[in-house]
Amino acid sequence: MKNFQSRLQDLKSTIPESVKIVAVSKTKPVEDIQEAYETGQRIFGENKVQEMLNKFLKLPVDIDWHLIGHLQSNKVKQVVSMVGMIHSVDSLKLLNKIQTESQKINRVVPCLIQVHIAMEDSKFGFAPEEVEELFQHLQMEDYPNVRFCGLMGMASFVDDDQQVTNEFRLLKNLFDKLRAEYMADNPDFQEISMGMTGDYKLAVSQGSTMIRVGTLLFGSRS
Ligand SMILES: *Cc1c(COP(=O)(O)O)cnc(C)c1O
Repeated sequence: MKNFQSRLQDLKSTIPESVKIVAVSKTKPVEDIQEAYETGQRIFGENKVQEMLNKFLKLPVDIDWHLIGHLQSNKVKQVVSMVGMIHSVDSLKLLNKIQTESQKINRVVPCLIQVHIAMEDSKFGFAPEEVEELFQHLQMEDYPNVRFCGLMGMASFVDDDQQVTNEFRLLKNLFDKLRAEYMADNPDFQEISMGMTGDYKLAVSQGSTMIRVGTLLFGSRS
């Protein structure tokens, strides 16, 4: 079986160097993450707060922990001191809570607004129309402890490449529009987190700046 390093090299050879790789380590033991760390990987993605916190305590301090799963408002307090980026800001309530808790500890937390781009209706995130409305009404000065870094989305889990491509394109177009209309003065607003093991090539072709890849790097999850 191939190790993390060769899988990472293979992945890197298929995408531009500028695309950031979030190694999604959910369900994987700390030993696997340590091995990946030793190859130079620093960004790891987790989808559960408790699991991320447990791993954070056991692994090197310079790991950049990205929370990629749904975050409940009552757990924000636990993550704001250690998280490197929250990809899954999916409600105004959550955004407000991140502001409040980050301010208490005097930190600015990098965040992505999650947009629901898939046909399936089970996923979290703002609808594209809602996210436009959010940005219209957002007063940036009310969020001094939130760094608005961009958008995140997940495409439908389907074999239809055209559909997946269209969904990623929707997110890219929305990002461009929001940046032009509301974020022209904000140089931090530059990330489009889209693409996973099954669809990262399509995502990169549509302008992804950050892919979240688990299975391809760590092997399948049990
Ligand atoms: C699990 C997960 C991934 C990675 O999935 P793979 O198919 O294993 O690459 C990416 N993004 C989110 C939000 C996830 O929960």
